[in-house]
Amino acid sequence: MSKVIGLIPLYDDDKDSIWMVPGYMNVIEECGGVPIILPLTTDINILEKSYSMCDGILLTGGHDVNPNLYNEEIIKECGTTNDTRDFMEKYLFEKAVEDDKPVLGICRGIQLMNVLLGGTLYQDLPTQKKEEVDHHMSAPYDRIAHEVFVLPDTLLANIIGEGEYGVNSYHHQAIKQLASGADAMAVSEDGIIEAIRVKNRRFMVGVQWHPEFSYKTDEKCKQLVQAFVDECREH
Ligand code: MN
Repeated sequence: MSKVIGLIPLYDDDKDSIWMVPGYMNVIEECGGVPIILPLTTDINILEKSYSMCDGILLTGGHDVNPNLYNEEIIKECGTTNDTRDFMEKYLFEKAVEDDKPVLGICRGIQLMNVLLGGTLYQDLPTQKKEEVDHHMSAPYDRIAHEVFVLPDTLLANIIGEGEYGVNSYHHQAIKQLASGADAMAVSEDGIIEAIRVKNRRFMVGVQWHPEFSYKTDEKCKQLVQAFVDECREH
């Protein structure tokens, strides 16, 4: 009952303020975990202590990943980046990969995981890929925006079942080149990879949709987070 899940804080540039979407914390609580918001920092000692306190790490949504991290020039349609988040999440993710500590990456989280494993992103779907479905829905976000196809014989299929699945969608970036260290687990109607896992790790999963907005109406979102919390090992 006391698995600690560390959440990467959201940062509001206009207000110069740290914040959180309550759903990230509420769904962890409902799944029996203890969510804590980690400090936004590049201080290695603080990151080390933060990491060791956590049984699992939730990479939240938020800023665009800096294209520097995948060796691309930034285009004007790329959104605001946050180098502090990029740094701290890189540090925490790479330690988690070493230790096989469970990670759930959501939206920015799946994108950052892919980049840190050597993959690339569309900096802006509307300008870099002809969009056949709208990936950037308006509120409320607990509605289905498009379908994905959950690939058979994947961890995700084991958790929520294979085949068609309607998800919400609130992103303008997405995986372009999938990292060699990751496997795709779900693909959207227009061919965007919307769920991945790190190869040879128990539970390092990223999804492009937002369980924190849909877990009350979509049982599969809850099941995904439950599987994440269940894989965390209390220390
Ligand atoms: Mn989408």
